[in-house]
Amino acid sequence: MEEKDGKTVIYACFGGFSNTGITTALASMDAVKEIGLDKVCIGCLGGLPINVKPVYENTDKAKKIITVDGCPMECSRKTVENAGYKIAKSIVLVRDIGMKKKSLYEGDENNHLTDNINEEDVRKAKELIVKAILEE
Ligand code: SF4
Repeated sequence: MEEKDGKTVIYACFGGFSNTGITTALASMDAVKEIGLDKVCIGCLGGLPINVKPVYENTDKAKKIITVDGCPMECSRKTVENAGYKIAKSIVLVRDIGMKKKSLYEGDENNHLTDNINEEDVRKAKELIVKAILEE
């Protein structure tokens, strides 16, 4: 295994059908903006099940791995564990901040991407992620 480079890697489920999945993405990006790209980055989840070598190389070097899932399907945690990695912290938004999952397409047929996204949910999720990054 390569030397650890001290960066935390976040794997977010980034589910594009639901408010919960998109919130994992927005909150993870906000956490990286707050903490800095020199200390934390977002991993390429889709690269793990298809054995993309640079994704494994970067994950091997991680100081620790945090998974962020929207709902109890826990697509990110399961994918990362199936790839053989140990997770320092698993965050699930419906469990940990009480989010209610709904389709991004619920409501008006002319929905915009963020119509079903709640800024307070994004903020709460970001705070949990930041806390997990800073935990020793
Ligand atoms: S964990 Fe839930 S919200 Fe995230 S990608 Fe899987 S099904 Fe979608």
